[in-house]
Amino acid sequence: MGNGRLGQLVRYAEKVFNLTQRLAHVTDTRRKPATPGSILATVVFYLGLLRIRSFNALEPKLRERPFLHLLRVPALRTLCSVDTLSRALRVVDLDSVRRVSVGIVQQAERNKVFRAGWHGALRHVAIDGWEPISSYQRHCSECLVRRVKVVDKKKHAAESEAVWVEQYYHRYVVAMLIDPLFDLVLDIEPLLTKDMRPARVPKSGKFKGQALPREEDEGELTAATRLITRVKQTYRWLDVVVGDALYANGPFLTTVTQLGLGAVVVARKDGDEPLRGALRLWGDQPAQETFEDEQRHEHVQLWDAPNLETLSTYTGPIRVVRGRVTNLKAPAAAPKTWCMLVVGRAARLSSRKVLAVARGRWHIENTGFHQWTTRWKFAHVFVHHAKGIRALYWLFFAAYNILTLFLYRQLLSYGRARGKDVTRTISRLVDEMRDDLARLTAPIHCLDTS
Ligand SMILES: [Zn+2]
Repeated sequence: MGNGRLGQLVRYAEKVFNLTQRLAHVTDTRRKPATPGSILATVVFYLGLLRIRSFNALEPKLRERPFLHLLRVPALRTLCSVDTLSRALRVVDLDSVRRVSVGIVQQAERNKVFRAGWHGALRHVAIDGWEPISSYQRHCSECLVRRVKVVDKKKHAAESEAVWVEQYYHRYVVAMLIDPLFDLVLDIEPLLTKDMRPARVPKSGKFKGQALPREEDEGELTAATRLITRVKQTYRWLDVVVGDALYANGPFLTTVTQLGLGAVVVARKDGDEPLRGALRLWGDQPAQETFEDEQRHEHVQLWDAPNLETLSTYTGPIRVVRGRVTNLKAPAAAPKTWCMLVVGRAARLSSRKVLAVARGRWHIENTGFHQWTTRWKFAHVFVHHAKGIRALYWLFFAAYNILTLFLYRQLLSYGRARGKDVTRTISRLVDEMRDDLARLTAPIHCLDTS
């Protein structure tokens, strides 16, 4: 059929995920636009997928035949400018772009992509804070602000001194499905500024019943609680939340178990319950289980304390697992220790699995955040507008999810043949597709005649 990898990907996206049909439902509030929202959404999808570095770099492509072929718009149609695209992103119906990415993951689930499950045949979602954008100059009304100390580089080193300046940034909490082979983005939620937060209404005291403005920007836990609630409502088939030490607290674990989910959360503070109680219980006792992991060249020791009820802000038992990992290739180095709190349906995981799940949490930082900011263009500010950024991210996530599924479901041997560096593997694939785009002389033929 031709068209190289790009043709293969487009046909896969159409045949398995009805991509064009999904993008056709994207709407915005512009009146009678010459270029409809669905086409602009398609442009942004490929802007993300092909990692085009800026709107300036995109502008000439909007008039080039190969790009028009890629969008499969009728031959005579001309596309709008990038200025119009930027304005449209600010007024996109966010739910309509979210549905594109969510729909792709849901379709993958219906296609039994995740059937094998992972540890304990459970589906794991990792959540973590992510800050792709920060600036000292440019800001919008929904930027978070902090005071940071910077050294004035214009002055000579000898007389340079630190000054306090305001830094503007956008921070989010991201939910990612983690799996041994590949990871997909499930959802994203911004941390709100104090002006954007709902009012606080005290239940007692002098201001009882009054709506009071917030004095501080939102913290990650508040946004994460909103996020995980929506994630569970959207993807009912998820089982276990995996988080870092920020989430090792009673109120969050309570929310998670009330949603019917389990949790595996890293615990770091020796003095905090229930880890403190577990450490006291274990004392100097030898590990309850030890094994050698030959693939990873590791010697692993495990301690497990079920049913601790020492955390006053959580009703019910919490299990604490400790894993001590010695690298057999560097036996003289200090072993690395991991402690995890386990609640809800994650209780059925063996202590080995609990350790593996907690370590799998790093997927979100390695194959997610790191790749998005170093290889993709998530950190480039295409449009500095809170809603515009999220609209763009949702379409980039759709591109990331499609590309990931294409790589691991369609090009089965590709990942293995290209070695273990996932990020580089994906970058090479994108380079191939950019070359394919330059050679496109007609719209990609998507009817399956094979
Ligand atoms: Zn901003």
